[in-house]
Amino acid sequence: MNVPHTIAIDGPAASGKSTLAKRMAHALDYLFFDTGVMYRAITCAALRAGLSMDAEDQITALSERAQIDVQTASADDGRDNDILLDGVDITWDIRSPEVDSNVSVVSAYPGVRAALTAQQRRIGQRGHVVMVGRDIGTVVLPEADLKLYLDASVEERARRRYDERLNRGDEIMLEVVLADMRMRDEIDSTRAVAPLRPAEDAVILDSDNMSIDEVLAYSLGLARGEG
Ligand code: C5P
Repeated sequence: MNVPHTIAIDGPAASGKSTLAKRMAHALDYLFFDTGVMYRAITCAALRAGLSMDAEDQITALSERAQIDVQTASADDGRDNDILLDGVDITWDIRSPEVDSNVSVVSAYPGVRAALTAQQRRIGQRGHVVMVGRDIGTVVLPEADLKLYLDASVEERARRRYDERLNRGDEIMLEVVLADMRMRDEIDSTRAVAPLRPAEDAVILDSDNMSIDEVLAYSLGLARGEG
């Protein structure tokens, strides 16, 4: 059995890629690495510093000096890991509606991408990793042994994100989540650097028509060379 060393999973927001990646990593005993966390951490840092989201130079400089750490979860509150920014726990702050609304603008800045991509490549090249994002198969790890692209309709994805929020006790409207999701899709897929798109050799899966268990079984089959 020739299990891939590196697995790249890309796709739009709330397509189920993190859930899939987590479960694949667990089944294969690989590291699960969600690169979206890093863009979220920089966005959170910029908001905390009171920077305007248009301040590309300042946000880029911030991304070059910020220390983002992903550590084993220290609390049993639904988190996968502790996310630290310069030593401060921002695990839940990076999931705020404010970060959601601004992260695509921040992640479109080429200097921010350059700073974070370099760190992501270093981690990915160690192998035994399932890495999730928007540009893993195309830019961060184009040499990944298995590339998956998980898609779902924007309505279905907005509904999932809305349910997640309700469960966390947020007061939010479905229409707002849907509009936000459409805006992020648009920015992520039309930006000049590393736009969201499947790599040419990616396997495209549509989670509108498959349950997460089906997607997982199929993906593990591919990883184990049964596809
Ligand atoms: O996956 P998640 O929704 O947490 O990602 C947040 C945002 O970070 C995305 O909307 C996208 O703008 C950006 N991102 C990116 N490249 C990645 C991962 C995330 O541009 N590899």
